[in-house]
Amino acid sequence: MQSWQELLRKKSLASLDALVAKFGPEQFPDLERLRQAALNFEFRISPAMVDLIKSPGDPIWRQYVPDLQELEVGDGLVDSLAEDAHSPVPNITHRYPDRALFLVSPVCASYCRFCTRRRKVGDPEKISMRELESAFRYLEAHSEIRDVIMSGGDPLLLSDRRIDELCRRLRAIPHLEIIRIGSRVPCHLPERVTPELCGILRRYHPLYINTHFNHPDELTPAAVEALGRLADAGIPLGCQTVLLKGVNDDVAVMKLLMQKLLAARVRPYYIYMCDQVAGAEHFRTTVEKGLEIIRALRGWTSGLAVPHFVIDAPGGGGKIPLLPEYVESLTDDAVVLRNYAGRRYVYRQPARQEPILVG
Ligand SMILES: *Cc1c(COP(=O)(O)O)cnc(C)c1O
Repeated sequence: MQSWQELLRKKSLASLDALVAKFGPEQFPDLERLRQAALNFEFRISPAMVDLIKSPGDPIWRQYVPDLQELEVGDGLVDSLAEDAHSPVPNITHRYPDRALFLVSPVCASYCRFCTRRRKVGDPEKISMRELESAFRYLEAHSEIRDVIMSGGDPLLLSDRRIDELCRRLRAIPHLEIIRIGSRVPCHLPERVTPELCGILRRYHPLYINTHFNHPDELTPAAVEALGRLADAGIPLGCQTVLLKGVNDDVAVMKLLMQKLLAARVRPYYIYMCDQVAGAEHFRTTVEKGLEIIRALRGWTSGLAVPHFVIDAPGGGGKIPLLPEYVESLTDDAVVLRNYAGRRYVYRQPARQEPILVG
């Protein structure tokens, strides 16, 4: 049987020429300019995603095939979330009081054209354990950090041995209560989720994985099985979806995605507005579209299928939640509410407590 490494190396589309050969030159009329666009960011489409493309311009194609619009940088930002400004040592972003982001791998199985971290992702192939030493020392020294999030790139593209080493090293830090991994591997390369990998991960509980699916078609039988193996290893699974024009900016598509995630034992966690990142302008939708989607989920389907809708604030403000308006008025006496179907309800406030006078 082919290893996942071999599969990724031999069966991926890893160059524009391979892409053109696969889909035909007529799909790429301005190839020379497209080469320029592709130069700005890593390119690879993993076998599972190649198989999912049904026709040019479809939701899977849009996520991975370079587009001339990437050359239109507009007011996009290189580091839109100011992650580097909040980086006390290489590979750590420490923005929130009690948790930190830890970039452990610059490599992904497929490169999303809307990547928020495109400035960092791609080369070099690997970050050595020695280069991570200052990050480990930072995490050890900062006892307020109780939650560490391994991200990248994709942490699960590292070797089993390296993942084991990273987890062991983190678990030796007493104040780290939970370890999280952000990975798109269950979608991009489900073959990577081997029984051996699950056997390693399950030794480091409490460990959470947030995965990333953007379209219901991505929940292939192979992806669902991979998610099942992770869930069977006792790992709670979440999903961070990005709202993307022409991919999932549609109520019916999003609802189906959320329902299919739940059926695959994944609890939807966030829907993000697409970041204002340079080269990804053509993926952005209006904020109203996101609110419309949340309104169409809440009450109309399982509450478990309704993630938080957030904007990761440009400049490093962190994730800020947005909700459709359900409160019509709020006074000391009562709150007037609209339910999911638009009907009006009144909830009375408790009788006001008079301050107790002492003496
Ligand atoms: C998203 C993120 C986190 C984790 O945020 P949660 O809301 O706890 O999931 C932590 N640090 C950084 C820099 C982040 O971007």
